[in-house]
Amino acid sequence: MDKVEAVVIGAGVIGLAVARALALSPSLRGAQVLVLEAADTIGTGTSSRNSEVIHGGLYYPPGSFKARFCVQGRRQLYAYCHERGVAHRRCGKLIVATEPGQQAQLETLAAKAAANGVEELQWLTANQARALEPALRCSAALLSPQTGIIDSHGLMLSLQGDLEHAGGLVAFHGAVARVACTGQGMAIEMADGSRLLTQWLVNAAGVSAPDLARRFEGMPHDLLPKAYCAKGNYFTLTARAPFSRLIYPVPEAAGLGVHLTLDLGGQARFGPDVQWVRDPQDLQVDPRRGDAFYEQVRRYWPALPDGALQPAYAGIRPKISGPDEPAADFRLIGPAEHGVAGLVHLMGIESPGLTSCLALADHVTEMLMA
Ligand SMILES: Cc1cc2nc3c(=O)[nH]c(=O)nc-3n(C[C@H](O)[C@H](O)[C@H](O)COP(=O)(O)OP(=O)(O)OC[C@H]3O[C@@H](n4cnc5c(N)ncnc54)[C@H](O)[C@@H]3O)c2cc1C
Repeated sequence: MDKVEAVVIGAGVIGLAVARALALSPSLRGAQVLVLEAADTIGTGTSSRNSEVIHGGLYYPPGSFKARFCVQGRRQLYAYCHERGVAHRRCGKLIVATEPGQQAQLETLAAKAAANGVEELQWLTANQARALEPALRCSAALLSPQTGIIDSHGLMLSLQGDLEHAGGLVAFHGAVARVACTGQGMAIEMADGSRLLTQWLVNAAGVSAPDLARRFEGMPHDLLPKAYCAKGNYFTLTARAPFSRLIYPVPEAAGLGVHLTLDLGGQARFGPDVQWVRDPQDLQVDPRRGDAFYEQVRRYWPALPDGALQPAYAGIRPKISGPDEPAADFRLIGPAEHGVAGLVHLMGIESPGLTSCLALADHVTEMLMA
């Protein structure tokens, strides 16, 4: 059986960041790192079906992985983008109150942001918000100057480049079927029947991670959360948007509300909404969902013209909490829980996973080396 010292399953932004961190870690002393990816290229999953926002870190319960990795990861990501020339812009965002009662939600968010160590957040009156964004309707807003946008594919290419420069490799058409934990290490069985032995293994298979973990021989199933898929649909704006910052309503239970984001070319898109689905391959956008978008967007942009929205794309949130449950934190299951040295499963890495990738990767490396 072939041997490789460290293996990461999945070449999304999380798997690539983890593989890069392992390849650069002095603790691994130049160990070879291999990424096994089922598809024929990097980033074909959730990592290329998101809002490409570098989040500030306002929304998450203080002390949670989401809060810690988002704030720390955002700082690391800006520094990394600057150093490596990954396209990004710190454009800032406004979170707006449009109905009575929502100002109290903004106050709660501001308190959470302060507890999470989010820098430079500002409370704006309606007039102050409109001075920044004249097309906006709101009764108050929070300005988060640290929020930005990023070329997520450029980021993944850069992470892959760092990995390869450090002697690592991504193997495509490399679907992992199951894993047996033996006294000599972990024996990975590929879908084509070939086998590979490794000492360190990270399951970063995104929405498939919980199902794959159930195919690890001897893995206690009661540790593994149930997986849910919450689809997020996007609609693009056919005209030019009259905004230069990202505009968010107050968050909903399972998502951040239908918000306006801009890509680096200035194209505006609205979304993602929340649609609970069973099939992670269900990626078609139903044009009929557009009606609800008009209604929600006009709460903060009343002048949105009729017929201006076009169905665009959808992504699947890899949820580990169901529709009626509170949002779960990122779930990192390591040796301290399952008892297998050198193995970490990553589950529920939904938003802010892109923002968090570098901080999360450092943490996973520490878990493996502990
Ligand atoms: C609608 C939406 C909007 C979002 N917006 C933002 C945002 O603005 N900012 C932010 O910070 N985060 C955002 N996120 C979250 C972010 O996109 C994810 O956290 C991140 O992309 C997850 O990356 P990943 O590598 O874990 O998963 P993926 O990108 O899905 O990668 C998993 C990889 O594993 C591979 N794989 C699966 N099974 C196997 C197997 N058995 N063998 C080999 N390979 C396998 C897949 O082919 C895939 O390439 C958003 C998410 C969604 C759904």
